[in-house]
Amino acid sequence: MKNSNKGVKTALVVCVLCIVSILVTVIMSVAAGNRKSGIVPISPATLAQSTEEKTQEAAETTKKKQKKTTGQKTETTAAPTTEATTAETTTEETTTVLVPYTQDEPTTDLPTTVKEITEKTTVSSSGRIIVDPTKTQWNLIVVNSSREIPEGYVPQLKEILGSGKYLDYRVAPHYEDMYYAAKKDGITLTPYSAYRTYERQKNNYNNLTNKYMSQYGLSRDAAAKKAATVILPPGTSEHNLGLAMDVCNVYDSFAYSKEYAWLQQHAHEYGFILRYTKEKQPITGIVPEPWHWRYVGVEYAKKIKDSGLCLEEYLDSIGVSY
Ligand SMILES: [Zn+2]
Repeated sequence: MKNSNKGVKTALVVCVLCIVSILVTVIMSVAAGNRKSGIVPISPATLAQSTEEKTQEAAETTKKKQKKTTGQKTETTAAPTTEATTAETTTEETTTVLVPYTQDEPTTDLPTTVKEITEKTTVSSSGRIIVDPTKTQWNLIVVNSSREIPEGYVPQLKEILGSGKYLDYRVAPHYEDMYYAAKKDGITLTPYSAYRTYERQKNNYNNLTNKYMSQYGLSRDAAAKKAATVILPPGTSEHNLGLAMDVCNVYDSFAYSKEYAWLQQHAHEYGFILRYTKEKQPITGIVPEPWHWRYVGVEYAKKIKDSGLCLEEYLDSIGVSY
């Protein structure tokens, strides 16, 4: 019996060991399988958090898209800025940024009201008022013998009809419209002289001054004064602004041409005025130039033509300080 009891005990121990070993094997194999398949138990709390993140992400993406759309929309009316800046700014900010001379296309031809058009803040060494074109109602800016733009100012330009001549990009389309309209009437308004750089104006002016000194035996000052009635000193010419075109040629006989007659009749319909006449020479300080046509916009060109005043007088008459 002792032996038999011993045998039963041994069998029981073996049995228990077997069961334990089987259990251990099963547990280990399950664990190994989970690791292999990458299955990670997800608690309901984690699941909820993950969904929330996704929703937030989606909302942010939508916001970004909306911002981008806003940026694109406002780009057409606001000053060109870098894409990044536009995308980051809010609708309110972008719609209010309107900067002269950096604007792609004017939203309207002209503003309906005229405000203070320049800031008389600086006077140059030559005693002239320095006009800041970026703080000025661009189409009504006045430069003349007593008003100049700063050296180094270059407007945004656009070529006219592939001619190699340039005007302010906001004026160029109007000149082209006028050119094609005249063409239909058998008139060719050839661009002769359009935008001139400050440097070129300076050279032209100095050359004429030198010529007068030798031709008439004048002092430099006297020759410079005389030259200024024909070629404006650098920075004081509308050509430096890209707002004026000398049409066809610069001969006095242009006043008797059919091109001049056409311009007299139609130029205001395209926003251009005759700037320098004999009658207004005491005010403008410039000899008559039948070839020189200045852009002021259709609305003002008509008003100025009807008034019979020159630009300076007209602005005075409507109470605009320039
Ligand atoms: Zn001119």
